[in-house]
Amino acid sequence: MALSQTITLPNGIKYEQPLGLFINNEFVKGVEGKTFETINPHDEKPIVAVHEATEKDVDIAVKAARAALEGEYKNVAPSVRGRYLTKLADLLEENIETLSGIESLDNGKSLFWSKVDITNAAGCIRYYGGWADKITGQTIDTDAKNFTYTRHEPVGVCGQIIPWNFPMLMWAWKIGPALATGNTIVLKSAEQTPLSALFAASLVKKAGFPPGVVNIISGFGKTAGAAISSHMDIDKVAFTGSTLVGRQILQAAAKSNLKKVTLELGGKSPNIVFPDADIENAISWVNFGIYYNHGQCCCAGSRVLVHEDIYDKFIEAFKKRAESNKVGDPFDKETFQGPQISQLQFDRIMGYIDEGKKAGAKVVTGGERHGSQGYYIKPTIFADVTNDMKIVQEEIFGPVCTVQKFKTEEEAIKLSNTSSYGLASAVHTTNLNTALRVSAALRAGTVWVNTYNTLHYQVPFGGYKESGIGRELGSYALENYTQIKSVRVYLGDALF
Ligand code: NAD
Repeated sequence: MALSQTITLPNGIKYEQPLGLFINNEFVKGVEGKTFETINPHDEKPIVAVHEATEKDVDIAVKAARAALEGEYKNVAPSVRGRYLTKLADLLEENIETLSGIESLDNGKSLFWSKVDITNAAGCIRYYGGWADKITGQTIDTDAKNFTYTRHEPVGVCGQIIPWNFPMLMWAWKIGPALATGNTIVLKSAEQTPLSALFAASLVKKAGFPPGVVNIISGFGKTAGAAISSHMDIDKVAFTGSTLVGRQILQAAAKSNLKKVTLELGGKSPNIVFPDADIENAISWVNFGIYYNHGQCCCAGSRVLVHEDIYDKFIEAFKKRAESNKVGDPFDKETFQGPQISQLQFDRIMGYIDEGKKAGAKVVTGGERHGSQGYYIKPTIFADVTNDMKIVQEEIFGPVCTVQKFKTEEEAIKLSNTSSYGLASAVHTTNLNTALRVSAALRAGTVWVNTYNTLHYQVPFGGYKESGIGRELGSYALENYTQIKSVRVYLGDALF
């Protein structure tokens, strides 16, 4: 099979899609000669086949990354690394029309939101480019006879495994801080969405990164992904995806070389609406909180908690709002919600919807597929739910939310925190004291007040409890990719 193919996107853009594994700045075939197809979730038809990495290819990519780390690259000045990143950000922006078209085709998100993703991916890479020459250690004055300082050194070869819900954004979140701090990378994209990562790989080379610094491979979790997490010469693994796989990665790291692990996992995030909230505003954010990206967000506000005094009024207005969301073709300008990523995810979500109906929850709206082709599901609201229902406790990862009633602030906090997850949360109120008190009490890595899903690359993001380990984004992410060396220089005479 060829290493590239000309594709014409539904928005009319014609471009050359790389299909190979990107190792040592070249696109190559997999050692075992395997390929797999990526499916368009809008029409359920294959788009193109890409070359598949297996364990042997992971090994080749790791060797390339190790050679780069220990070769000339370690003498490249941090400011030059920063310039490569800045150039990469420029190239992402220059190619935004193509990249967003690829993203909408392969992932199904609307063109508008794909553009937002690419803009934020470029912003993230530029932000970390700015950090590259600002990584500093400390001098520590212990006493007059010692000169002590710390060096913040790269961790080494980093394995990075990303999901399909934000292919380019996760790509940027992972490679930005790792490259700013001088590491080299083997990144595996999700098998459902390999295309944008490969196109962006070609920009990595154009940006000036030497061969082996960034290696991007397409492949499956059980083979290529597992080979990364258990590899003896990978120093760190960063993963975003399901909690189930997160556990497997942690185990593989423990059983192999105790590589450092950061995990960004699932969630079942509460979105609390107090009776004094600006209701129109709250409904907009609750709607965006669950239906943005078709509910396929780890931080989706999938558990809506509404005070009993405004519950009925809220349900009525929220129903109207959800029903006004335009579901359809990602390349249609009006579209807000596209298809789910795959048949598997469609079936999982529909399974949860059936489960909710059987458990006695009331379908306020939705609860069924949209149209007859593509993995489309109507925005769904469940009311009259109890806290023990599966649809209230488990991550659905689709356009489905539950709306629960609460009486007191204490009850809202208790319900919110009754979850094995702790990724995000939100509070809607016009009372500053309520906002601050509840924000402090929620056990979650992010609390949004009178908003939702407003992530920013300068702001740390990550989970409490089973939602993950470590923080991505902001200056905090740099800590994941550096290790601290203490150097003590003795200035006195021999003691012994
Ligand atoms: P997943 O966790 O299986 O896949 C995410 C990534 O991990 C992919 O790149 C995959 O190839 C890789 N992977 C899978 N098994 C692996 C293994 N054993 N070792 C190493 N890497 C492995 O997610 P999924 O099956 O695509 O989706 C299942 C559920 O995961 C969803 O319903 C949703 O609840 C959750 N999910 C969460 C996120 C998130 O952003 N937190 C993203 C995607 C999916």
